[in-house]
Amino acid sequence: ARASYGKANPESQKIHTESLLTLPGGTTRNVVHFKPFPVILESGRGSYLTDVDDHTYLDLCGEYSAGMFGHSHPVITKAMHSAIDSGFALGGVNRFEGRLAKLFCDRFASIEKIRFSNSGTEANLTAIALVKAYTKRNTILVFKGGYHGGLATFSKDDKVTANSMNAPHNFIVAPYNDIQALEEIVAQHKDDLACIFLELMQGSSGCLPADIDFIKALRAKATEVGAVLMFDEVMTSRMSTGGLQKLIGVTPDMTTLGKYFAGGGQNFGAFGGKTEIMSIIEPGHPGGAYHSGTYNNNVTTMAAGVAVLEQVWTEQAASDLYNMGEWLQHELQRVSKEAGSTLKVTGVGSLMTLHFSSKEVRSAADVQASETTVRELFFFDMLKKGFYLAQRGMVSLMTVTTKEELETFVEAVRLFLVERKEF
Ligand code: PMP
Repeated sequence: ARASYGKANPESQKIHTESLLTLPGGTTRNVVHFKPFPVILESGRGSYLTDVDDHTYLDLCGEYSAGMFGHSHPVITKAMHSAIDSGFALGGVNRFEGRLAKLFCDRFASIEKIRFSNSGTEANLTAIALVKAYTKRNTILVFKGGYHGGLATFSKDDKVTANSMNAPHNFIVAPYNDIQALEEIVAQHKDDLACIFLELMQGSSGCLPADIDFIKALRAKATEVGAVLMFDEVMTSRMSTGGLQKLIGVTPDMTTLGKYFAGGGQNFGAFGGKTEIMSIIEPGHPGGAYHSGTYNNNVTTMAAGVAVLEQVWTEQAASDLYNMGEWLQHELQRVSKEAGSTLKVTGVGSLMTLHFSSKEVRSAADVQASETTVRELFFFDMLKKGFYLAQRGMVSLMTVTTKEELETFVEAVRLFLVERKEF
């Protein structure tokens, strides 16, 4: 598969050899790199991507969920252009940021006050620092397989830092979806427990939803020991206009956000929650925590965000996208079953991961134990057929993608499965 891939992508290979290797590993984002070299993307339009060798792909990666409205959405593009035409970062307060903050506070039950930052990673690390200052405690409880950004990943074992450079916080890593282990760990650390921090569905680890009972247990435990319950909804907030927390019906004390809210073309991060917690970053707050950043309120991000929330990301858009995702998951499961394949689909709504595993997939360890060679073959087969997925098999739907387009993907998956009966 790799040999024919090299032949089909000469320009990507040339660029890779000529200049990309000045970046460690040939990339500035480890997640988008793959061997022998990644296709180099030239442009995106709506639901399609084109690479430098002139191949066109249906974009199922959706910029790892950030590109939820497709490429160069006209409403968002217009808002960004008009903001840029009135000056770049203005060095003060602009007319968009308050409006954007209010839109979030109106939509998320858990967010009374909000602050913006430049990425999900930054939002998470800042929110953790804030919560430590608020509780005057240091320990942060996270879960095996959790991903909270390029500096906080908890993948391979229970030790802090498995495969990432770790942020300087006191993380304790608990097993995921395990209420008994939770009770033991919380009992052990309760006096210094500042925060319980959870992805409602572990995205990067393979779209692994948290059990409702587990989430409820976290809510109860946090309240019992005086820790802050914080949900990382950087990816999952797309499940409704009020996040996955709204569908699940559990309200955290703090929520972090990122990705698509600035339209997919601009960097974005945000953290928000109870006024009592958030107010300690107010200027002049005694014992407060300082929060600032040159680009926190950059006008293109803020203007794009206002356009997204006021015009694009409506209740209807959110429920349509969720339903399309559920339909796609169902269709993929159907073709897998009909082909007698090991393909398993995990996820919620418009975010899903395709695994090749004979066992049910519920945890990061199950994903690691799945058939990664088949996954790689599948990835290259899909690329060849014109479907661009995240290499790890994640599909992140965009609002502009049609059911007819997704039907062509389902058919390509079906053919892959029936042609290779052994999977
Ligand atoms: N948290 C979660 C759950 C994420 O999925 C991501 C990004 N994949 C982040 C945090 C980090 O966001 P960013 O890449 O914008 O730093």
